[in-house]
Amino acid sequence: CGIVGYIGYRDAFPIIIKGLQRLEYRGYDSAGIALFDGSQINLAKTKGKVEDLKKKAEGISQKGSIGIGHTRWATHGVPNDVNSHPHYSNSGELVIIHNGIIENYEAIKQELTKRGYKFQSDTDTEVLINLIEEVKKTEGVKLGKAVQIALNQVVGAYAIAVFDIKKPDEIVVAKLGSPLAIGIGEKEFFIASDASPFIEFTNNAVYLEDEEMAIIRLGKEIKLRKIKDDSVA
Ligand code: GLU
Repeated sequence: CGIVGYIGYRDAFPIIIKGLQRLEYRGYDSAGIALFDGSQINLAKTKGKVEDLKKKAEGISQKGSIGIGHTRWATHGVPNDVNSHPHYSNSGELVIIHNGIIENYEAIKQELTKRGYKFQSDTDTEVLINLIEEVKKTEGVKLGKAVQIALNQVVGAYAIAVFDIKKPDEIVVAKLGSPLAIGIGEKEFFIASDASPFIEFTNNAVYLEDEEMAIIRLGKEIKLRKIKDDSVA
């Protein structure tokens, strides 16, 4: 399983596809990509190999300098197109990729269902993105804070990348258990499970520690936070 993300000025599509291929050694059963073209998200995902994803993505716009890509090793829900990542929140505004397991997803899912949330997939991941959405709405906080609050309610392991179409210059990432590296370039950032997807672009890398998250924003310094330290707004 693997994660690749890009935010900057280059075409994100080839960077993400190539990056996912470099992470193939980690093993996976499905692959997916979401690209933001400046006005909307274009998403393709499929059971199978990154090669299959490339074919599937011929049907979507491949424009955009911000995007996230994923290879899935199914833990909750069979390997199929719907269960593949990325996953949207109910509003369609938030998008997530996730490696790992949310152990208490069943209880959270029940609670969210009571509040009117609907789920397309059988994954624990779709529960997490809707929890983040619910926190963001009810607490009236920014994405980074919503991710932090939500992760404090979660038991499990994860490397995640989350994107909000209303804040298209930002990707929020977090890690516990599964690996996550951030590559820092000039006016661009890379995200990946290891440095191999971005090594040709930059050798300046930050490896997130367990229970650490980062708010990655174009033109800004990366903001690193401890997930348990909720003192920051
Ligand atoms: N638990 C998630 C799922 O089954 C993520 C699996 C993974 O690590 O790729 O969709």
